[in-house]
Amino acid sequence: MSATLAPQTTPVRSLTPPRRRTRVLALPEARWALAALVAFLLGLALDLGGAPVWAYGIPYAVAYVTGGWEPALEGLRALREKTLDVDLLMIVAALGAAGIGQVLDGALLIVIFATSGALEALATARTADSVRGLLDLAPATATRVRADGTEETVPTADLAVGDVLLIRPGERIGADGTVLDGTSEADQATITGEPLPVVKRPGDEVFAGTLNGTGSLRVRVDRDPADSVIARIVTLVEEASRTKAPTQLFIEKIEQRYAVGVVAATLAVFAVPLAFGENLTEALLRAMTFMIVASPCAVVLATMPPLLSAIANAGRHGVLVKSAVAMERLGEVDATALDKTGTLTEGTPEVTAARPLPGSGLDEDRLLALAAAAEHPSEHPLARAVVAAARARDLPIATAQEFTATPGEGVTATVDGRRITVGRPKDAVHTEDPGRGSLPGDRGPGSGDPRGATVVTVTRDGVPVGTLALTDRLRPDAAATTAELTALTGTAPVLLTGDNAHTAARVAEATGLTDVRAELLPEDKVKAVRALQESGRKVLFVGDGVNDAPALAAAHSGIAMGRAGSDLALETADAVIVRDELATVPAVVRLSRAARRLVVQNLVIAGTFITVLVVWDLAGHLPLPLGVAGHEGSTVLVGLNGLRLLRESAWRSGSAQAGRG
Ligand code: ADP
Ligand code: MG
Repeated sequence: MSATLAPQTTPVRSLTPPRRRTRVLALPEARWALAALVAFLLGLALDLGGAPVWAYGIPYAVAYVTGGWEPALEGLRALREKTLDVDLLMIVAALGAAGIGQVLDGALLIVIFATSGALEALATARTADSVRGLLDLAPATATRVRADGTEETVPTADLAVGDVLLIRPGERIGADGTVLDGTSEADQATITGEPLPVVKRPGDEVFAGTLNGTGSLRVRVDRDPADSVIARIVTLVEEASRTKAPTQLFIEKIEQRYAVGVVAATLAVFAVPLAFGENLTEALLRAMTFMIVASPCAVVLATMPPLLSAIANAGRHGVLVKSAVAMERLGEVDATALDKTGTLTEGTPEVTAARPLPGSGLDEDRLLALAAAAEHPSEHPLARAVVAAARARDLPIATAQEFTATPGEGVTATVDGRRITVGRPKDAVHTEDPGRGSLPGDRGPGSGDPRGATVVTVTRDGVPVGTLALTDRLRPDAAATTAELTALTGTAPVLLTGDNAHTAARVAEATGLTDVRAELLPEDKVKAVRALQESGRKVLFVGDGVNDAPALAAAHSGIAMGRAGSDLALETADAVIVRDELATVPAVVRLSRAARRLVVQNLVIAGTFITVLVVWDLAGHLPLPLGVAGHEGSTVLVGLNGLRLLRESAWRSGSAQAGRG
């Protein structure tokens, strides 16, 4: 089961470190189970060998104690809190069996029960390992380059944003950052599952915990070690495992009543035949068997392992699903709504034209410098583009006062005593041909990337003084993703954007979308999502901006873009795509569906075993050992079935189909 937790790296170059795995016998549960098994086998040998009762009685008793003390203690503890634990039922059944002379059957029950308990503990430990293993991958120390060029070795926990690291060949990278110089390749299998090393050149991003290849790199730290992608995956998976899926909560609610029902029914199964003259031992044995096979151990284990395995698997592929609830809901969606800027497009626009209005007295440079001053405090991708364009021209950027941003509209700030706004044109007629840019960096229409130009208006003291045109590239996987989402939900995604209709239409055309709503304010996005949901759809919303947060919250399920995304969007969403790979959206929906299917499958398996064994016991004669084996067998089966989603192939089947579109 857990051997498949490791990404399937190519054997050619094994840069992936051996994953630390919990050894079976490191678990106390396993040691007790082993002790019980050894004692049982010894007793069995003496028993079959014709030894006297006291000789095999002792090892049997040891088996009862070693295998049963812990569940018994837990059960009694639960009982004190007035809850009935199924473990306790098992222990009572075993003692009952011993009481009526079926010492061997009782011991067998204890041993199998302890063994299945140990297996469960192992499965849980291995899931935790796969997560913790990620953290262990971040090295303890890194080589920091001081301002004077000398080097020092520092603990990675002490690294700060802006530090420059020297990464030597074969060294594990200590922090998320950007390559300043050097060329190498990095094995990123630990966080992407991608087995082939990726080439790293200046400007490329590298991640903590990934392994540097043969080159040497200088890397600028971009993220605090506590916020590194790998640290976030670990935190999210840990948080997710503390939440419970609705199905699980429901099951736990009925489990209590069910357990009480089992006890009542057991008494009836014992008392009724007795009243009709059956002999005591027969009646007791049947009642005991009934209690075992009717217990809902497998039902309890049906839900969480598949969902948690799916969360761990998605996390390894750069999708952080925040809770089991979120994982369950993702698979329920049957419609999608997508944001444009930063979601379908890369969210790294470039200014391609600056047009001062004739009467403004500004030239291109002064218009750009003015806009950059007002935009400087903003986190918006357009703002960053404007500032970058001004910097590229070495323009002085004045310090702005009284800055405010209106999501979906633009920014306002005071620059040199004048009120400057940069934002959405009030009259929606401004559209631009992206090919006519006048600034360097314009790639022109021949570059092959379908692009839309966004136009923003700059005003000074309420008077328009010019416009800026910005173009953003479509993400390479945008069209394939929209096609896949269409196939998956049966309807094409809806495009919801705050940008102008012209740009929106161009992006829609390039991605095969037809339902486009442009110039939406944040609340309009919410309205659009609500309207879809009122028509009976369960909507998945994918977005990145502050202006997307309300829609992310309103949707049945929300996914935020992790890299381009604003903090608010990341907080609000149910899941985050760490590296902004759009293709993971349909893949995670598929994974969630697979998890939901497994839950149902598990419930069917559990229900079938219970029904068959109960009917067999009541209508015929079900031998106690067989009842025990069937019951515990189904529990282990269900547990292992859920862990199948940890396998690499569970994700591949999701994304392979995504590729076929
Ligand atoms: P989308 O909904 O496609 O992600 P946004 O809602 O982020 O786009 O932006 C919608 C429009 O609002 C932009 O096209 C732009 O005209 C304007 N706008 C928002 N924020 C800013 C900003 N910081 N600077 C300039 N214009 C902005
Ligand atoms: Mg956006």
